[in-house]
Amino acid sequence: MDLEKTIRALQGRGFAVSRFATKEEAADYLAGAIQNTTVGMGGSKTLDTLGVYDRLKEHNEVFWHWREPGIPTLDKALTAQTYLSSANAITEDGQIINIDGRGNRLAAMVYGPGKDIYIVAGVNKIEEDFDKALFRARNTAAVQNMARFAGSQPCQSEKGGGKCYDCRSKDRGCNGLLVLWGKMFDMQKIEVVLIEEELGL
Ligand code: SF4
Repeated sequence: MDLEKTIRALQGRGFAVSRFATKEEAADYLAGAIQNTTVGMGGSKTLDTLGVYDRLKEHNEVFWHWREPGIPTLDKALTAQTYLSSANAITEDGQIINIDGRGNRLAAMVYGPGKDIYIVAGVNKIEEDFDKALFRARNTAAVQNMARFAGSQPCQSEKGGGKCYDCRSKDRGCNGLLVLWGKMFDMQKIEVVLIEEELGL
């Protein structure tokens, strides 16, 4: 994993990049940078571990379905001025990859004139190229994420679980793939917050 190369590549694509040694430093930065606005958050173990929901609630109106489940929360998160997510994988040439079941995270990251997007990720999400990043997104992030859901997904079966089968289960949570190649038109910014720790799925 080449962190310096990844940062240069992300910046070359028009993403802002900030880098922190620890999750505590990253959480302090986000709490200071995001003030007096509306904030939506995507489902993310990384964001949960950072504890940013409680920090951001002190100075913002925050919508996160992991705290307040339901479609109204998802709708408000989608149209919030600032949106936070993690990434399932990031390539060393700066592509940001996410898989989603409902699409709330993907939608929030592709459209939003004037929006600020923060993508918060540990360096364990960085992969050498697109094929390895997609493999990671499917066989690590998606498989582990599916453990949170009831159902008949083969990746969760006792026999042969632990890898993605590109299944057709009615309970599959892998219904869409987003690859960000750059900041969408009219967004204020997409900032990748890289943390030099292993975080998330
Ligand atoms: S596509 Fe199916 S097998 Fe693959 S991770 Fe998603 S739910 Fe599991």
